[in-house]
Amino acid sequence: MPLYRFHGGLPLPGMKGELPQRPIRQAELPELLTLPLRMHARGTLEPCVVPGQRVRRFEVLARPQSSGEGACLNAPAAGIIEAIEPRGLPHAPGESGPAIVLRVDAANPSEASRFASMSDWSARKPPELRQRLIEAGVAGLGGGAFPSADKLAFEVELLVLNGAECEPWIACDARLLVEQAAEVLQGGRLLRHMLGAKRVQLAVEDSMQPALAALRAALAEHAIEDIEQVEVPTLYPQGGERQLIQTLTGREVPLGGLPQHIGIVVHNVGTALAAWRAVVHGEALVERVLSVTGPGVVQPDNWRVALGTPIAALIAASGGYTDQARRLLMGGAMMGVSLPDDGFPIVKASTCVLVLDTPEARHGQPALPCIRCGDCADVCPPRLMPQLLHEALRAPEIDAAEALGLGACIECGLCDVACPSHIPLAQGFRLGKARLRAERQRQQEASEAQARFEARARRLEHEREALVERRAQAGKEAAAKAALASALAKARARSGAAAPDRSE
Ligand code: SF4
Ligand code: SF4
Repeated sequence: MPLYRFHGGLPLPGMKGELPQRPIRQAELPELLTLPLRMHARGTLEPCVVPGQRVRRFEVLARPQSSGEGACLNAPAAGIIEAIEPRGLPHAPGESGPAIVLRVDAANPSEASRFASMSDWSARKPPELRQRLIEAGVAGLGGGAFPSADKLAFEVELLVLNGAECEPWIACDARLLVEQAAEVLQGGRLLRHMLGAKRVQLAVEDSMQPALAALRAALAEHAIEDIEQVEVPTLYPQGGERQLIQTLTGREVPLGGLPQHIGIVVHNVGTALAAWRAVVHGEALVERVLSVTGPGVVQPDNWRVALGTPIAALIAASGGYTDQARRLLMGGAMMGVSLPDDGFPIVKASTCVLVLDTPEARHGQPALPCIRCGDCADVCPPRLMPQLLHEALRAPEIDAAEALGLGACIECGLCDVACPSHIPLAQGFRLGKARLRAERQRQQEASEAQARFEARARRLEHEREALVERRAQAGKEAAAKAALASALAKARARSGAAAPDRSE
């Protein structure tokens, strides 16, 4: 099939090393699991347990605020709820939010409360399957943690299964495909059924040959003919959903639009597997596969880890830090976020724990003035003008930055790589987007408050007018009654004066 080229992008040096060949190891459960209630891309969950309560594995601990959408948070192990208290968020450093702390039952951690199997999934209606994914906490495992049910609530033409793991250090999807290709493909068929998609394409970068071979073998062994395997060029950020859609179809998702607006939806391969396990095996999403890697860890490996496990425990299981360890990131070198320490827990968005040997992942040299070379614009996949965005944010003119397309920045970090002046552009854009969201939230709250104030003023005015009208009406009625009484009195008086004297 023909493939297309998205704008910008760069081939980055591969840093995965032997990681795609390292089998996935099962991490031990720690004593305490910390589960932030801001686990997904959308909103904070409402806890439905209380401290002291005993829970079983897979049991729902917290629910979305609205029914029929989102994803629950489920217990990764049996145990006792120790506390619900504020904790730091690994995916939003500097911010904190409520988290459920679960003390694992060391004697019987796998005592489980599974959902009933829906092995007859192909005979089930999509809303019923979607509700299962909500209850089982299934969310995007490619790093976005977007609730999967919300990306399955419409019909599309094409479902893309994203196995294009383009971040240079990460190999968890590559390994997952090697070890569980058949289940990923079954998950793809399930998602296809839910979306009513006519076609399914599973995209894998051409540098991931062991994964491609495993997929080919699984497709042949299970005689799966309704999923097309596609080898896409190794080019960062090929795994971005807009870039992958363009590579596969030549079509661009409009700025401000979503893939479903052009009849396409993208789900990560790990998400497809999680959906399969939830529907057919009745298992909630309570663990994930991730890479722990970089020159700062003794033994880079791929791990299957219970959500809520502290990073420190994973680093210790990987042999600890090397002398070169300088910087800890959650996620890859390009899009990951720096963490101040390893006390943070693994969450659904954690694709990687990366320990680098430089204090700054992409810089390390002082920033120089912009020379207006335009290199940053040349590599920018959404065709932004990073140098102008940078100036607008420094001004600071957040409205101008928004007009320049700040919201469309995918935070890929390529402008940083390209910039000969070592200006930390992407970092500024990430902070700018957070400011923009906060500003828009503040404006929305202010406009809602204004609308409530105006509605109250209108209600009071209506009440005042109604009172005046009632009083006027009452006055009219009283005047009418008085006039009637007066007329009657006059009539009685007249009739009294005119009556004949019957005594005569
Ligand atoms: S970080 Fe944003 S501005 Fe920079 S290249 Fe990527 S998308 Fe463009
Ligand atoms: S790459 Fe750097 S120096 Fe060149 S225009 Fe962009 S910000 Fe300026």
